Amino acid sequence: MNLLYKSTRNADKTVTASEAILKGLADDGGLFVPVNIPKLDVSLDELKDMTYQETAYSVMKQFLTDFTKEELENCIAKAYDSKFDTEEIAPLVKVDNTYYLELFHGATIAFKDMALSILPHLLTTSAKKNNVKNEIVILTATSGDTGKAALAGFADVEGTRIIVFYPKNGVSKVQELQMVTQKGANTSVVAIHGNFDCAQSGVKAIFENKELAKEMDVAGFQFSSANSINIGRLVPQIVYYVYAYAKLLQNEEIAEGEEINVVVPTGNFGNILAAYFAKQMGIPIAKLICASNENKVLFDFFQTGVYDKNREFILTNSPSMDILISSNLERLIYMIAGQDAEKNSELMQALKSQGVYELTEDMKANLGDFAAGYATEAEVKETIADIYKATGYVIDTHTAVAAKVCKDYQKESKDAKKTVIASTASPYKFARSVMTSIDGKYDALEEFDLIDSLEVVSNVAIPNAVEEIRNAKILHTLECDADKMEETVKEILGV
Ligand SMILES: *Cc1c(COP(=O)(O)O)cnc(C)c1O
Repeated sequence: MNLLYKSTRNADKTVTASEAILKGLADDGGLFVPVNIPKLDVSLDELKDMTYQETAYSVMKQFLTDFTKEELENCIAKAYDSKFDTEEIAPLVKVDNTYYLELFHGATIAFKDMALSILPHLLTTSAKKNNVKNEIVILTATSGDTGKAALAGFADVEGTRIIVFYPKNGVSKVQELQMVTQKGANTSVVAIHGNFDCAQSGVKAIFENKELAKEMDVAGFQFSSANSINIGRLVPQIVYYVYAYAKLLQNEEIAEGEEINVVVPTGNFGNILAAYFAKQMGIPIAKLICASNENKVLFDFFQTGVYDKNREFILTNSPSMDILISSNLERLIYMIAGQDAEKNSELMQALKSQGVYELTEDMKANLGDFAAGYATEAEVKETIADIYKATGYVIDTHTAVAAKVCKDYQKESKDAKKTVIASTASPYKFARSVMTSIDGKYDALEEFDLIDSLEVVSNVAIPNAVEEIRNAKILHTLECDADKMEETVKEILGV
């Protein structure tokens, strides 16, 4: 039986997994969700001895049911290969009785690689299955990490083009250099004058523009998305939560069936939603703990049931979480409303027009799986320094948000379950913030001297992704105003 997908804003129409991946966003502006979340059909005991690739197959085949075994295994093999600097793909590191699930061993040293190394293969396979003749144009808004991971994934993939929009002045130096030095004839990178939310809204508006879609079709193009709204990103992210649980079992850190907690540094709500899906599939996860930085719209939401984006947008040292409209939350809203597309549409409409909505009491009651916390900028710095001084382990600013929230949660709740922290970026990606947290003296250093110092301090070799950009040529210099994104896309494509 094929698992079908529906839009969070329309109860009637269903599409296959490959159609949902191709489209990215539903025509009505909603997000695709499976009509039900499938259970794992392998036991925890079987999972325990699987490789990352085997785990990926066991999880993904439950969701992408219109892919053949061969197609899916092929996508997995191409994605999780030597682009990752460790065979484990996502190592689980125990530090001070907490487990850090290191999701940054891929090509661009952030967790976005976990999904974006496979998305291009899922997408081109989906295009073949659906007889798509147009060239697929991937449009991506990035708060820093998605952009590079998508560029790396799609560069020179036949039948695709990729255009990435990032907020000028809103990303770290390494993040920016990684993007503007990207090679590949089918890649474009545009700095927009605005923040991430502007970039994301601009991309969404392009997707929702039906006239433009017709024009593109005539010119032989169709849009798709590499943002975490694409179900082809969400599904691969479920894998590493299943894998982490299996590793804990294999290492005899937990007994079979023992519940664990998961803490996720959150921005667009994609990563933590994947953990929620892993739980629904049958992995014994008790609490999903949502960690925010000073842009704590999600913390407030879980406290009060009110989502209110009307607030100051704060630029923090964990820029990949500087987000006030968490797109993937819509999928959770739809689910806690009992798959009520009408109710969800109403709330999303309120978000669009007033910037705020409030859950019903029934919906609030369905949020029991979640806890939430946030960390201030000062707390992030302190956490990086404290963990380094106590253990020698160096974490990045995003992971530090989660580590701080984890500590607060354990202290307040007295919940002593084993806890996995999603470690979402290599400290090398945010070298300045990390090093100055450890010691203010490092602030005087140039970017690459900082990186060399980080190698000494952390005792972890400089990743390839960083060595690569040390002397790389800048290839992309396009900029545009946030309200000129559509024109820019047309110019790039020559339409
Ligand atoms: C994207 C990102 C996040 C936020 O993940 P979401 O899925 O958007 O919630 C956290 N940390 C890093 C390093 C990221 O790149």
